[in-house]
Amino acid sequence: MPPAALPGGAARSVPDQVPPPLLHSRIISWFQQEARDLPWRGDCSPWGVLVSEIMLQQTPVVRVQPVWEQWLERWPTPEAFAAAAPADVLRAWGRLGYPRRALRLHAAAAQIVAHHGGRVPTTYAELLELPGVGSYTAAAVAAFAYGRRTTVVDTNIRRVHARLVVGQALPAPALTAAEMTLAAQLLPQDTEESVLWNAGTMELGAVVCTARSPRCNQCPVFAQCAWIAAGQPEPSYIPKGQPWAGTDRQVRGAVMAVLRAASLPVHADLFWDPAAASNHGELAAELDKLHELNTHAPQLERALAGLVTDGLAQHTDAGYQLPR
Ligand code: SF4
Repeated sequence: MPPAALPGGAARSVPDQVPPPLLHSRIISWFQQEARDLPWRGDCSPWGVLVSEIMLQQTPVVRVQPVWEQWLERWPTPEAFAAAAPADVLRAWGRLGYPRRALRLHAAAAQIVAHHGGRVPTTYAELLELPGVGSYTAAAVAAFAYGRRTTVVDTNIRRVHARLVVGQALPAPALTAAEMTLAAQLLPQDTEESVLWNAGTMELGAVVCTARSPRCNQCPVFAQCAWIAAGQPEPSYIPKGQPWAGTDRQVRGAVMAVLRAASLPVHADLFWDPAAASNHGELAAELDKLHELNTHAPQLERALAGLVTDGLAQHTDAGYQLPR
């Protein structure tokens, strides 16, 4: 196997004593025994897999699963979902966060109905054409919904590759070409094995080789791990956490919660005046949460304007509402 590139661009040799087939067999066997029983695995429609991949882009499994289950019960096909009203889509998305994903999934469903006969496309190239589907999601859906051999690289897989093969505590802050090359080199040639490798490596990163506290004593490739062999060196940078409190995202989320709870347009005064809000029963709880943030005026204005610009809200003389 050729040298693996380090995040900084230098190269080191992948230890000769760790041939990829050994990594494949150990991680795949572990996955077949230990994989979490998630509803989008196994007997799941390609539509269910696509919905799960979109929801999981920024949100952990524990929050996605109940929403995904209700979603698939309500909209079991792209056709059913494409016919839904945008306001219903955003209400069903609830508190998963980054709600533009819901509107892009809605647009993707419309495209699937218009150009693919209502069937989620099967190839990486066709999937990549769908709104909201980037290279990771296209590769994951092609692999997990259709059993295709694709190079799937998400945050968890990147971390496992960085530790197991490169010997670094963390991958580079942003995905590099060298990482994609390494992932392609590590991918088993056999198609069925490649799907299990992708799923198994992702699962290993999610539940064992975690970002903050890897459980190396439970790892199926502990003896082969380059990071362990190197003496567990510290990361070369401190990953930036994603702040939440006080951010525009927090205010946008609170405004969206108000709009989801409203059956009629919400007059602008209610966003600004806590006293005016107290008489609005169905909204009072969500308005209280918004006002508890003590948002300063420019930030609230920015949140409202941004939601309108992003198509997540409409503004009329009557007030703000979810898109009709
Ligand atoms: Fe990750 Fe530890 Fe396993 Fe290495 S031994 S791959 S660091 S969990």
